[in-house]
Amino acid sequence: MSLLGAIEAGGTKFVCGIGKEDGTVLERISFPTTTPEETMAQVVSFFEGKGVEAIGAGSFGPIDPVKGSPTYGRITTTPKPHWSQFDMVGYLRSHFNVPIEFDTDVNGAALGEYTWGAAKDADSCLYITVGTGIGAGAVVNGELVHGLSHPEMGHIMVRRHPKDSYEGTCPYHGDCLEGVAAGPSLSRRWGVQGAELTKDHPAWEMEAYYLAQALMNYILILSPQKIVMGGGVMKQLQLFPLIHSQLQQLLGGYLQLDETNANIADYIVPPQLGDNAGLCGALALAKKALAEA
Ligand code: ADP
Ligand code: ZN
Repeated sequence: MSLLGAIEAGGTKFVCGIGKEDGTVLERISFPTTTPEETMAQVVSFFEGKGVEAIGAGSFGPIDPVKGSPTYGRITTTPKPHWSQFDMVGYLRSHFNVPIEFDTDVNGAALGEYTWGAAKDADSCLYITVGTGIGAGAVVNGELVHGLSHPEMGHIMVRRHPKDSYEGTCPYHGDCLEGVAAGPSLSRRWGVQGAELTKDHPAWEMEAYYLAQALMNYILILSPQKIVMGGGVMKQLQLFPLIHSQLQQLLGGYLQLDETNANIADYIVPPQLGDNAGLCGALALAKKALAEA
């Protein structure tokens, strides 16, 4: 079985791994994200001499994942110092003569869950991360969704909770979904880190109120067969039943589907790849690169 290289390129840390086409990870390393020169030199030295036959990279964004575009392979307009316009694919190609697949971290995670995880029996799925930001990746009929660029499902508009006076953290939109429901908005609204709020704190009802609205929109637009929700905030597993019931209230019985009614607990689920979701996502991208080479 071929050896594959996986890069989970995060804004705070990079994780690199060597794995196989069945999704097993044989070796991994993690280091902080500093400048592209320093960080990418560590990536290259990790993979050198390991004999990987393809490399997949799932990256923080925004990025240009559209093959044939003049800026394909770059991290584009990130506010993260030094990384704006960094040509990730160009850099990797200059060091490794193997097929490379480059996509968003959440598209990678969606493909990983679709290939080996919670969505492996579905033809389409959505992976949503609720962490420092909110983002989602979609697999439709086996293909990751791209378009002009990639979807930005965290920045959608939501109806305000009647008891929420917090203005929102998004520098572009204020109270878009990410602005009111990502990890940093929890800590600013309630004055403590999300991880420190008790399980019965009203924060979770409000959090579910926002996430359920987002899911309603995603379901009505994309009709995914499975929805996987990960990221730091979703470690609060009590959110799942709250989201299920708020979503059912919002849908108002409009969709006559088992998935959104009796079986909703099997429809909107945590990642099966757990803390390996990001790295396995990059591994799934590498598998795709090899298959399409
Ligand atoms: P990132 O999005 O940066 O890749 P994470 O998915 O771990 O990383 O998300 C980090 C965010 O999630 C932070 O805002 C943090 O406060 C929040 N978070 C992490 N763990 C928990 C937890 N157990 N409960 C609630 N919020 C959490
Ligand atoms: Zn926004």
